[in-house]
Amino acid sequence: TTILAIETSCDETAVAVVQNRQVLAEAVASQIAQHQVYGGVVPEIASRQHLEVINVLLQQVQTATGLSWGELDAIAVTCAPGLVGALNIGLAAAKTLAILYQQPLVGIHHLEGHICAAYLTDPHLQPPFLCLLVSGGHTSLVAVREGQTYHPLGQTRDDAVGEAFDKVARLLGLGYPGGPAIDRLAPSGNPQAFALPEGKISLPGGGVHPYDMSFSGLKTAVRRLVEKIPPPLPVADVAASFQYTVVQALTRRAMRCALDQGLTTLVVAGGVAANRELRQTITATATQQGIRVIIPPMKYCTDNAAMIGCAGVIRLKQGQGSPLHLTSQSRMMLTDIHTLYGKAE
Ligand code: ATP
Ligand code: MG
Ligand code: FE
Repeated sequence: TTILAIETSCDETAVAVVQNRQVLAEAVASQIAQHQVYGGVVPEIASRQHLEVINVLLQQVQTATGLSWGELDAIAVTCAPGLVGALNIGLAAAKTLAILYQQPLVGIHHLEGHICAAYLTDPHLQPPFLCLLVSGGHTSLVAVREGQTYHPLGQTRDDAVGEAFDKVARLLGLGYPGGPAIDRLAPSGNPQAFALPEGKISLPGGGVHPYDMSFSGLKTAVRRLVEKIPPPLPVADVAASFQYTVVQALTRRAMRCALDQGLTTLVVAGGVAANRELRQTITATATQQGIRVIIPPMKYCTDNAAMIGCAGVIRLKQGQGSPLHLTSQSRMMLTDIHTLYGKAE
């Protein structure tokens, strides 16, 4: 099964051709430079930028594969969740090609894409497994079961972990995007320099929710710390202490969840899975407990189209396709994926 995939949900324009679990060609245009001066993604600029580069990327990928779009099995496109104006650019391109080349259209949930990046990494991987999904806008523990169904078990009650990285980086004057900046700086700091609170969710009857998470209190604690310490601020120590606290919180929840659920494979996916300390710590801890860990290479952790193609292959093989009137949505739960599929046209 050969699929052209398009991803434009945020600030990366990405196009790929995927054959089953293999990437035949891919191209990504990052908009970081355009948004950097504003300290975050500006939706209107993102849409315009996608529109400017998408045809060039499509051309590049087509040339690299030597395929005609008529030889595909389907066109997959991210349609939710994300910035609606940005998603619409990818959706318009995908629909146009689907009509021109008489290809089935498959709308893909962006987070399913992040999870499916694991299939590119381990070509033999099959459900069931646990996925720790850590991205810019989402943080959750999801059991992936037979038939590629999603069963959320825990999640953040406030900020996503990527969002926390970005906000803390801003407090520390490290700029945007914050995750990679903290990742780079933390190894030169002392992770024990400051004791920061690991956010916990209390249960009504007492005790702590085993899998749910909270990162806004941690962010506030860092802000207080920054305000309290007399200058010069030990930026590397604060970054290291913050990263250490986050990695401990995520690792603990993921281990507990995997062991409770009897899931022996753990996938870590989403932009924050690119974080080196998280990769090392969670791999070492899980391995000790007899849990196998799969983390995609960095370029398939952050937004890319290969993961969308991989999800497209799965949906197409299950006979699922989307109508040509498919629309974009800013929010959508993983458990609502079936609403994207009617009868393929
Ligand atoms: P979502 O997938 O939830 O819709 P998104 O697509 O914007 O959000 P991703 O592209 O998956 O998010 O990930 C981007 C996030 O990952 C940003 O918050 C960024 O700071 C974070 N990130 C990227 N690299 C690293 C890293 N090395 N360490 C920590 N965080 C990182
Ligand atoms: Mg991005
Ligand atoms: Fe993403």
